[in-house]
Amino acid sequence: MTSAATINTVLGPISPAQLGFTLVHEHVMVSTSGLYQSYPDLLGRGPEARAIATLKRAKEAGIDTIIDATTFDLGRHAPLLAAVSKGSGVNIINVTGWWLDVPRFLRGVGASQMAREFIRDVREGFRGTDIKAGLLKCAADIDGVTPPLETMARAVARAHRETGLPIMVHSHPGTQLARRQIEIFREEGVDLTRVKIDHSNDTTDTEYLKWILDQGCFLGFDRYPGRMVSPRMRTLTLKKLMDEGYTERLCVSHDCICLHIHNEQPDGSIPEQHDFFRSNPDQYLFIHRHVIPQLRELGATEADIQTLFVGNPRRFLAGA
Ligand SMILES: [Zn+2]
Repeated sequence: MTSAATINTVLGPISPAQLGFTLVHEHVMVSTSGLYQSYPDLLGRGPEARAIATLKRAKEAGIDTIIDATTFDLGRHAPLLAAVSKGSGVNIINVTGWWLDVPRFLRGVGASQMAREFIRDVREGFRGTDIKAGLLKCAADIDGVTPPLETMARAVARAHRETGLPIMVHSHPGTQLARRQIEIFREEGVDLTRVKIDHSNDTTDTEYLKWILDQGCFLGFDRYPGRMVSPRMRTLTLKKLMDEGYTERLCVSHDCICLHIHNEQPDGSIPEQHDFFRSNPDQYLFIHRHVIPQLRELGATEADIQTLFVGNPRRFLAGA
């Protein structure tokens, strides 16, 4: 097992002890590649200042660090992340790798070729900046691991082998997709104790979730409030796995999006808030306000809360 002495944030390296209370799957902005530079007005008024204000409130509530899961194809703009981290005081760790949008021009690119690009994001920084990625991400969803997404998964696996960085995996529990994603990682020689299978609280099927945990992976309980399963049911499933002895491999987060496209309404007006905000007005504080109190009600101890939000993110990011 590998372990890291420092972790790359968007403002430079920090020690694992500096992570503190960490949310392992969030987004400052989700859009599409290049949108922030070309069409920023689609993100509503003053996006940078709004993101700083929102994350300042998170910092005041005790959130020290977030993993920003926004890849190139989700519109990553690294200088924005640096400005938001600086302005809010929250450590931001950004991923490299890929989400679901592989454009047609990239369909012929090979896994090792793409891996070299991801490794440069980690070692030299996102091109044109000295801002370095702190971990890796790949993705697949209801359509399965399609050929272009398999190339990206193998590229991320190879970058992991070269850099020792952990991998967060966008998955689809409804089709038990992690079985295939983990099979690919095994073929590539990935250390499965450095893998986190995300969106795992979109199901209540604990037999499937325990299978993933028994492969050595972390589980991302990273959709709150989420849609397909109620927040209360998500927390009951989380507590059930804690009671079965898996507390040390469960990571809890929101998959909150602070900046997103503001869609025109049928009457032609542009709303002040985007759709995701309206479905979660608590934003990065939903867990503090609703999930942690419920966990305590169900019998979780302060030590359990520390393990979920401090110990587990640190072991996922830095290794044991
Ligand atoms: Zn996400």
